[in-house]
Amino acid sequence: MPVIKIAQPGTLFVVAAPSGAGKSTLVNALLSRDSNIQLSVSYTTREPRVGEVHGVSYHFTSVDDFLQRQAQNEFIESAEVHGNYYGTSKKWIDQALENGQDVLLEIDWQGAQQVRLFFPQMVGIFIVPPSLTALKERLYGRGTDSEDVITRRLLAAGGEMAHAPEFEYVIINENLDSAMSNLCHIVQAARLRFAQQFSRNPTLFYDLGIHAK
Ligand code: 5GP
Repeated sequence: MPVIKIAQPGTLFVVAAPSGAGKSTLVNALLSRDSNIQLSVSYTTREPRVGEVHGVSYHFTSVDDFLQRQAQNEFIESAEVHGNYYGTSKKWIDQALENGQDVLLEIDWQGAQQVRLFFPQMVGIFIVPPSLTALKERLYGRGTDSEDVITRRLLAAGGEMAHAPEFEYVIINENLDSAMSNLCHIVQAARLRFAQQFSRNPTLFYDLGIHAK
């Protein structure tokens, strides 16, 4: 029986949001509930924040090392965000998707645009705060960044949110439970797309006489 592969069996999710929209909280809650989704650990030249662990939160690296990896085409996407470089390993994503793992990238809109060129079937999810006031309160309440950094992020937020239309889904994060429920439904629906189902169940589809277009 021929095994026809029309897509990698894993599903690629790309989640973006302005700082303070609650993206990390939502993503972490999803990852703890759903063991088939692996978070891609990005490379960054930013300094680690208190509590961040090398190799878990990010691969923290120097500008020289980052630029070398970029020149060797190690990254599927890379971008400068808030004055630091960030990049995503292409090899890691390819392997995970081939192995049937779903992969989630927590990156900015610039990265999402680049990833879409390689993976047009990716599922883009944009998270917005319920209001600008809530966004400011969350950024100040976090207490991890300096005043200067917060001001820069607030200014950038408007520019980031202008790219929301490039994403398939938008979650308004007013309440963690309902935002989480929305996120789980999006994940579920994406896994049920024809290409993903076909790729995960080739024998069944063959037996049923269902073929890829
Ligand atoms: P933070 O420094 O607060 O962890 O992240 C700052 C911004 O960089 C966030 O919008 C985050 O999504 C984005 N970011 C994190 N990793 C990557 C990456 O690998 N590529 C891109 N393009 N953006 C990233």
